[in-house]
Amino acid sequence: MTAKLILPGATLGVLGGGQLGRMFSVAARTMGYRVVVLDPDPQCGAGLIADVHIKAGYDDQAALEEMANQCDAVTLEFENIPSQSVRFVAEKTTVYPAADALEIAQNRDREKQFAKKAGLQPVPYFALLQESNLQLAADEVGFPAILKSNTLGYDGKGQFVVNDFAELGAAYEQVAKVDCVLEKKINIRCEVSAIVARNASAELAAFPVSENQHRNGILHMSIVPARVSDELTKLAIENASILAEALSYVGILAVEFFVSDDDVLYFNEMAPRPHNSGHYSKDACVTSQFEQQVRMMCGLKPGDTRLLSPVVMVNMLGDLWEPDWLSIFTQNNIKLHLYGKTEARPGRKMGHFNVLAEDVESALVVANEVFEQLQG
Ligand code: ADP
Ligand code: MG
Repeated sequence: MTAKLILPGATLGVLGGGQLGRMFSVAARTMGYRVVVLDPDPQCGAGLIADVHIKAGYDDQAALEEMANQCDAVTLEFENIPSQSVRFVAEKTTVYPAADALEIAQNRDREKQFAKKAGLQPVPYFALLQESNLQLAADEVGFPAILKSNTLGYDGKGQFVVNDFAELGAAYEQVAKVDCVLEKKINIRCEVSAIVARNASAELAAFPVSENQHRNGILHMSIVPARVSDELTKLAIENASILAEALSYVGILAVEFFVSDDDVLYFNEMAPRPHNSGHYSKDACVTSQFEQQVRMMCGLKPGDTRLLSPVVMVNMLGDLWEPDWLSIFTQNNIKLHLYGKTEARPGRKMGHFNVLAEDVESALVVANEVFEQLQG
């Protein structure tokens, strides 16, 4: 199949208008595309950047139709867009990623099964689909373990660390007995992610692997290049590429991995979109993950993903608000990105900054220092 080529002047749509949709919109408009965003929130960050903001829910057929009619291609910024909506839009215009891939990434059990079949190694787990299996799950996985709801989890939401059978029972009650996975809690040396891009002609490009540090289940910092062996870096990219191929994926695919203390690379989860751990690419790579998203949906060749500088990305959550801005602006090697959110709440992602330096260690020193100062 030769891919449909979509060139500047055409109109691109994005389902979802949070920060990822906003950064996609900036990239698309910079490249000369018109942008339509669909998001029910009248204040959403992408709505301020897009040419057109359709303010409607993701299951609003009339709104989806309006979007499809206006757009030469449509993408998405978060995985919980109902897949029926994606299928509906796909009947009328090009949509990447496809609903099939989306449905796999929406469900932890499904994505682990898919990854396993493709030859990757998920953390040992048990798919807990009914209450009568609680004991079996506990016997198979052992403790400590982590109970995670199969769908709708993000930033550590919908998950519970459990140390014994009683805690497992309580956690299962707390998630209202929805479908879950019970995962072995492993000793993590570090977490890494690999982001790959694939177009409809099966051309593939991988971004440099990022090392990710979390706080309270939320990404705090990404360090690139990741401080792991070349073999692990290569393996992470290989694994992400295998998944993209196996899914016949078109778009940006982000894959999270754990590196255990005995140096095993475990598949954790995947996201069918640009990823927080790829925000460093906005300043440190020839092509950002958002430009790459535009390129993939437009049938263009992947842009060069070369790393131009070691970089540390730090998330800015609502907890910091109002930050001491000058602590950023008095540095000459920090790039600030804010998402246009007016209301700051604890845990809410408001922006990030990228520190570029000669080496990762110097970038880390500045990143940590500035993060401290930001809090006033
Ligand atoms: P989310 O969808 O919220 O990102 P994740 O499954 O990625 O959920 O889990 C969030 C974080 O919790 C991970 O980045 C990791 O730090 C920790 N974690 C998750 N699963 C495990 C596990 N099996 N063993 C140890 N730590 C884990
Ligand atoms: Mg995660």
